[in-house]
Amino acid sequence: MPNNEFRIEIGREPSVQALDAAESMYSNNILLLIQKNSQNDDITENDLQPIGVLAKIILKLRLPNNNYKVKFKVTDRINVLNYESVNPYFVCNYEKCITLSSSPEREAILMKNVMESFSKNYNNFVSSADEILQTIRNGASADVLSDVIAFRLRGDVDKYKYLSELDVCNRLKYLLEDFELNKELTDLEDKINQEVKKSIDQSQKEYYLREKMKAIQNELGDKARQDEEVEEFRKKIEESQMPERTKEKARQELSRYASTSNQMAESGIMRTYIETLVNLPWGNQASVDNNDLKDVSMKLDSRHYGLEKVKERIVEYLAVKIMTNCNPHTILCFVGPPGVGKTSLGKSIADALGRKFIKQSLGGVRDEAEIRGHRRTYIGAMPGRIIKGMLEAKTVNPVFLLDEIDKMASDYRGDPAAAMLEVLDPEQNNNFSDNYLEEPYDLSQVMFITTANSLEDIPAPLRDRMEIIELSSYTEFEKFNIAYKHLLPRELTDHGLSDSQLKIEEEAMYEIIRNYTREAGVRELNRLIATICRKTVKDILINKTESTVITKENLANYLGKPRFFNNVSRPENQVGIVTGLAYTQFGGDTLDIEVTYYKGKGGLVLTGKLGDVMKESAQTALSYVKSHAAEYGIPMDRFNENDIHIHVPEGAVPKDGPSAGVTLTTAIVSALSGKPVDSHIGMTGEVTLRGQVLPIGGLREKSIAALRSGLKTILIPKDNERDLDDVPDEVKKLLKIIPVANVGEVLDYAIIK
Ligand code: ADP
Repeated sequence: MPNNEFRIEIGREPSVQALDAAESMYSNNILLLIQKNSQNDDITENDLQPIGVLAKIILKLRLPNNNYKVKFKVTDRINVLNYESVNPYFVCNYEKCITLSSSPEREAILMKNVMESFSKNYNNFVSSADEILQTIRNGASADVLSDVIAFRLRGDVDKYKYLSELDVCNRLKYLLEDFELNKELTDLEDKINQEVKKSIDQSQKEYYLREKMKAIQNELGDKARQDEEVEEFRKKIEESQMPERTKEKARQELSRYASTSNQMAESGIMRTYIETLVNLPWGNQASVDNNDLKDVSMKLDSRHYGLEKVKERIVEYLAVKIMTNCNPHTILCFVGPPGVGKTSLGKSIADALGRKFIKQSLGGVRDEAEIRGHRRTYIGAMPGRIIKGMLEAKTVNPVFLLDEIDKMASDYRGDPAAAMLEVLDPEQNNNFSDNYLEEPYDLSQVMFITTANSLEDIPAPLRDRMEIIELSSYTEFEKFNIAYKHLLPRELTDHGLSDSQLKIEEEAMYEIIRNYTREAGVRELNRLIATICRKTVKDILINKTESTVITKENLANYLGKPRFFNNVSRPENQVGIVTGLAYTQFGGDTLDIEVTYYKGKGGLVLTGKLGDVMKESAQTALSYVKSHAAEYGIPMDRFNENDIHIHVPEGAVPKDGPSAGVTLTTAIVSALSGKPVDSHIGMTGEVTLRGQVLPIGGLREKSIAALRSGLKTILIPKDNERDLDDVPDEVKKLLKIIPVANVGEVLDYAIIK
């Protein structure tokens, strides 16, 4: 339409060339004509409407797709007279069309009607009214206004009729007609929308009412159910043996619960609380102990091989309990490496006495609330582990095993050890307070037993209240017997096998113990026996095997290649490498210490993750060697002109403790004097500056580990001679144990002259 500006994208090749020609030859003037059929791409002059417009190119932008975006300002209506050429673009002669008015009076009335109609409803008629309103305000003529409005008419309107009409009266009439049509369509649309909305409103209302009805029904049903439950709780509270004070609290809580709708969140919290109170064992809800000590002792014997001293201590402990008819005032604590039977002893004690057995692991507990529970004001509050255990026990006198008490940690959330103290202290534990419970709870009839891997890590005040019973590593012989007497029969039963269906030869069993496991206890051994059982069951079901015998030869078919090579050959004698004996919470172990030196300024380098005590031992050892250099044939300048490097391999394991003193000294002397060390000798002992060898701990564990790794002789501090009783006989038979009083003796034995 004339009197407008508009943008359009242009891509067809002839059109693009026409654009270029208009720019270069016709001062940006161009004719725009309408195709009769817009689907047709390949057009001739006959495909074009005769009336079009003359326009000026105002802006031409090239788009990434190579089309042009062009803005035109349309100035005139034109009528094409004839075409001069049609290739590559059309060139034609034209005349400008002059707008007329058939009747100025009619024009005025029509104009007034158009303005009225338009101003009432313009947003329905046109796409952007602002520019039109501006044109009206500027006092545009009927000619201009009709073009401006027609250009922007909404809907599916034939606009060519406006373009080709030269009488402005007709154009205004068309506008009024199109307005009317548009209004009818809009009304129709509104009506349809209204109807749709009405039907949606209706169904929404029904949905809402139905939901409401459901909620009411639920409420009525739940109330009946809740009433029933309240009655049941009331009965349980009255029958329960809880102290009168606690009972009163439970009653109060129950009446609050009864008057709270169970749609409310608090209702659930109250319910859980009341449930906890009535489910806890109270008063004399106790099991009756087996007081026949002989029977108890036999039961322990039948379940646990060896451990004579341990079992004896347990029986004594229980004897006191029977005599006094109350729990002894100390708590048993089994200390030892993993898999030596600490937990299972606890279970056996419970079984032998006929008490319930409860186990809670304290490993990693750092929050006091885990022991003592959370206050009920917290969302998801729960009682602590002790009360949870009692809920499980259902009797007031279970055997309660607190596992890994040495692995408790403390942080800003409080000190769990302090809470444990209250649990374990017989003076206090008849009034144990749990934050969740809010009422005191009597733990005095519970038999607490604790376990730990290392004694040092148990907080001192707790340790004071405990009777420590140490369990140590098993020797091969003990493991062998445990395997045949306990592990194998149990695994056979668990796998539904009879002892004629699976036999493990003794040689094979030793092979498993020596070359497939390296542990203080028997857990891995147990697992491997279970693996053999599993594979046997599979063979029986798939291959119809009648019976399986495991020999040393066919063992690898079941367990794969051996994982360790214990008791095989020791390395050759070397300079600067000495085997020490260590004692960790996982049992005894051997530890090679390496020393070397190189040009330097008399420095000392220590690597291998050593603790402070071990670093000091290294300093002391070096000072000792320096002061006795001459005796071992080490020239003094070897210290000054070199740096000495001490390395203890297996960097991931933190190592500490003074008992590596002799080993460090021997390694330094060997390295600096260039004399090799006997690789079949292991040693342990603290050394003073004067060279005196001081006693160490864990002799039994260390000697077992020494034998396990193929050492033939071990050097131990003279003062440890008294501990030789603890060393199992079969170890003493195979291992030469030499007590030494000072480092000089150690070097005499270890260094090869
Ligand atoms: P811990 O608590 O010391 O880590 P467990 O009590 O869990 O060890 O024992 C691991 C397994 O070894 C258990 O199946 C247990 O029955 C068995 N076991 C350990 N020592 C003996 C033993 N002396 N006699 C019989 N079975 C034992």
